[in-house]
Amino acid sequence: MLRNLFVFAVATFIAWVAPGQSAFSQPAERPPIRVLIVDGQNNHQWQQTTPLIEQTLIGSGLFEVSVATSPPRGEDMSGFQPRFADFDVVVSNYNGDAWAEPTRRALEKFVGSGGGLVAVHAADNSFPDWHEYNRMIGLGGWGGRDERAGPYVRWNDDLQRFTRDTRPGSGGTHGSRTPFVVVVRDSDHPITRGLPKAWMQTVDELYGKLRGPAENMHVLATAYSEPETGGTGEHEPILMSIHYGQGRAFHTTLGHDVAAMNGLAFQITLQRGTEWAATGDVTLPPVGPEILTMDVPATRDPAELIAAEDANDAAKDADDADSEEPAASSAAIDFDAIPIVDKDHWKALFNGQDLSGWTQKNGTATYRVEDGVIVGKTATGSPNSFLCTDEDFGDFELAFEVDCDRELNSGVQIRSRSIPEFNKGRVHGPQVEIEAAPGESGYLYSEGTGRGWLSPAHPIKDAYINGSWNRYLVRAVGPRIQTWINGQLIEDLEDEESFRTGFIGLQVHGIGKNEGPYQVRWRNIRIRPL
Ligand code: ZN
Repeated sequence: MLRNLFVFAVATFIAWVAPGQSAFSQPAERPPIRVLIVDGQNNHQWQQTTPLIEQTLIGSGLFEVSVATSPPRGEDMSGFQPRFADFDVVVSNYNGDAWAEPTRRALEKFVGSGGGLVAVHAADNSFPDWHEYNRMIGLGGWGGRDERAGPYVRWNDDLQRFTRDTRPGSGGTHGSRTPFVVVVRDSDHPITRGLPKAWMQTVDELYGKLRGPAENMHVLATAYSEPETGGTGEHEPILMSIHYGQGRAFHTTLGHDVAAMNGLAFQITLQRGTEWAATGDVTLPPVGPEILTMDVPATRDPAELIAAEDANDAAKDADDADSEEPAASSAAIDFDAIPIVDKDHWKALFNGQDLSGWTQKNGTATYRVEDGVIVGKTATGSPNSFLCTDEDFGDFELAFEVDCDRELNSGVQIRSRSIPEFNKGRVHGPQVEIEAAPGESGYLYSEGTGRGWLSPAHPIKDAYINGSWNRYLVRAVGPRIQTWINGQLIEDLEDEESFRTGFIGLQVHGIGKNEGPYQVRWRNIRIRPL
């Protein structure tokens, strides 16, 4: 089962057009553009950055996003065969082992026959020996690339045009991370049309000395790589569009890490570039200099876009409560597949605004709403506290994101109860563990019952990423409970004794007298009753 997951771990989020966006040029009913992100290996933190790419794309209202995660480095890649043809555009957050030949041929065929490809940052380090891939991305770096890979391409400010330099030399370099100015060199391409002529990207890695075939490639924007910060002293290509056969590729060297992907410069160009690669056009609205700023770099947590859409959706659900679609039949559940979060069958448990639908039980920790996030904070001397749904859920799939202070223990109760007859209302039932890595995150504990761990063993200690948002998925059907963190299957067990129905509860663990205060944050809490 674990192996299957590695072969094709998919988490799909269906985007819809928010009311505020339908005023722009795209028709409200246009079907979403289908995006497949590929990741699984990278010398960068792909586990942290793939969610940001996902959120950035979904937040535009144009895309539905799936993720294909490869096996880890050094393992057999032959089973990694994502079905590119089921999508409109493939976004690569991958820099690792060579793919098997059928997978390489499938991508060539996909793009060559009209599909889209987007290469994000270190994706252009990947596959130095795969010529067709290098033709798709235009330029690449590292991996032994040199003059045989193709020319360096730079903007020459004196000549006011791009030059190609075929001199011998290695490909790929960068200075220390710094904010920098991105300058548009062609304002008449769909990706850059309606954007300011120049703007600042937040602290990021500025790639230089990239070289490659550079066929049918158009450099849309450059940035000056400052020698003072270890740069090349050249105007290096930052955004590129490439035509490959009938298809298109968008290549952005922005996006080294979470901080860089919080830059609006990264997000807005990724949204536009991905739409262009998928369709050949950009319908996203123009963005002015008040948003893509020049004097200070503009940043935004892309998850805010999703939180806003959740609030929209909660309001919409309230409006048409009668026309709710029937829940999917549990007969159709594929236990080998990771739950797919889409718009149709999932509902937001948290409206992003306040705690309506939730009631605190047991301890005196505080829960508040801040920027679309539920923040739980410890209270000295309090027993475990729980913020519980008023509604009970039986069989379901549950999705949420959580970021917990390292010192604090937390968890999410499922199918849990609080009744006066049992221990004066003590919350009890299965809990999905949340704690800093290395730890037992994702495993199941029987809270308040004295049974202790339901999970017999805890082999995976590091799926949880400390100091970051972590995506949890839970599937509970009959006695079977499965959990995932950041796309990785953690637990899959059957427990006959646990309750089959009950509330969802967000735990803030009690703390010792001289500790804290500590906080735990939850957002994007959604459920799909089965
Ligand atoms: Zn980097």
